[in-house]
Amino acid sequence: MTTPTTAEVGRGSKKPTVVEIDGFRGRLINADHADYDIARAVWNGAINRRPHLIARCIGTADVVGAVRFARERDLEIAIRGGGHNVAGTAVCDDGIVIDLSAMRAVRVDPAGRRAWVQGGALWGDVDHETQAHGLATTGGIVSHTGVAGLTLGGGVGWLMRKHGLTIDNLLAVDVVTAEGKLLRASEDEHPDLFWALRGGGGNFGVVTSFEFRLHPVGPTVLAGPILWDAPEAGEVLRFYRDFLRDAPDELGTVVRFGTAPPLPVISRDLHWRPVLMIGACYAGPIEDGERVLRPLRACRTPLLDLVGPAPYVGFQNALDSTVPHGWNYYWKSTHLPELRDELIDVIVEHAFSCSSPRSYAAMFHLKGTVSRVAEGATAFGNRHASHAITLDAVWRPGEDFGDRDTAWTRSFFAALGRFREGVYVNFLGGDENPDRVREAYGDSVYDRLVNVKTTYDPDNVFHHNQNIRPRTGTPISRGTRAHPH
Ligand SMILES: Cc1cc2nc3c(=O)[nH]c(=O)nc-3n(C[C@H](O)[C@H](O)[C@H](O)COP(=O)(O)OP(=O)(O)OC[C@H]3O[C@@H](n4cnc5c(N)ncnc54)[C@H](O)[C@@H]3O)c2cc1C
Repeated sequence: MTTPTTAEVGRGSKKPTVVEIDGFRGRLINADHADYDIARAVWNGAINRRPHLIARCIGTADVVGAVRFARERDLEIAIRGGGHNVAGTAVCDDGIVIDLSAMRAVRVDPAGRRAWVQGGALWGDVDHETQAHGLATTGGIVSHTGVAGLTLGGGVGWLMRKHGLTIDNLLAVDVVTAEGKLLRASEDEHPDLFWALRGGGGNFGVVTSFEFRLHPVGPTVLAGPILWDAPEAGEVLRFYRDFLRDAPDELGTVVRFGTAPPLPVISRDLHWRPVLMIGACYAGPIEDGERVLRPLRACRTPLLDLVGPAPYVGFQNALDSTVPHGWNYYWKSTHLPELRDELIDVIVEHAFSCSSPRSYAAMFHLKGTVSRVAEGATAFGNRHASHAITLDAVWRPGEDFGDRDTAWTRSFFAALGRFREGVYVNFLGGDENPDRVREAYGDSVYDRLVNVKTTYDPDNVFHHNQNIRPRTGTPISRGTRAHPH
């Protein structure tokens, strides 16, 4: 038999109330709890919200209990997976955080090439378990990012051009709906819900488990960054544009504009120097990768070429320390078309004019399998776009780069205006106009998402996210905006 877990909610102006969630086996953390400040902190240190209660679940029954508890009391709900979203939607003021961070188990079936991943796992957990069998699926390029939020928004990463977006490898989910019911969604069960969950974010329920298709990858791959001096950026980007036209799907690349981070693999004399860095990962035989990457590595004279055989797991966490938890972050983002000359000129003009040595822009090359999946087959919009760029202001607590580099992202974004081709919903910040959510999907996908939302969450219970509003019911209730600042 389980003992109810108790905690007090309603501090501050209200009288504290002792509450219990019947049968809850995880931890209930309120403002009196010693761990409250740690438990309410998310990756982005600029987010500072104070929920009444954090319900740290240890199983699906806890999630069901927490959803029902919140609904009975009409509490604001935030869902926390990895806590990584730049908009900080994993935590709310007042209300309850349904926190899955203690649910990180990963089970792998090597023969069937499947993985079952709990809703609070991080990509590092998945890569660790799957790579033990030489398998992987498309995940994010920073290993402390949550699987849940990333997957539900689409999922871009090194492997996407070969194996598709993360959602293209999603086979089924267990999801707790706004009514507190546990459903399995797949192509055969609640297919409308399954379609919406593949891109529509946390709008439709709390996902407690994901089932993914895996592929043979590595465990040693040809991967690494190539660095050029910032003044070379225009010429290198022109070369890169032409090089990409014939690049095989196995090759995933991300361009990073910023200073050379002080990583141990980068010699000290280059640290903090403005550079164009192209990270590459070849998801195929090493010798083929050597041949494919040779022209890019010979372009101009790189300052440093670190491409070589590397463990895929190690490559997946190589950038982790450049974007740690607790620093302050502000992002703007857009999809872009192929890099024609005028676009390259705009990028080069703005990319290196931020103030903080830690601010950067990152541009993911899409196409390949991503754009061969039919538009509308999943709820991920703008599959035809060539690149997804994020413009990321980064400053440490106490540093005064925040205002200047936030302004830098906005003016860079404005300059990209005439080239914009939609946006990746997971790269949207917390202060965006709600129209940008529609922009992320395009009209027909967005309208279909509204239909599914209206079926499964007509009262917009799950609105602390990049919100898709149902056609009927409470649009946004309890004083919290869909795009919290
Ligand atoms: C440093 C960094 C690197 C990144 N790199 C990539 C990348 O390479 N590729 C990429 O695609 N994206 C990347 N992202 C973006 C990432 O996809 C989003 O930030 C994503 O929201 C992170 O997922 P999370 O579980 O950590 O989110 P959280 O902050 O925990 O949650 C964000 C939202 O997701 C929803 N959600 C979370 N968990 C659940 C759940 N279990 N059930 C239902 N809804 C849930 C909720 O609506 C919640 O508000 C990166 C982000 C950062 C900060």
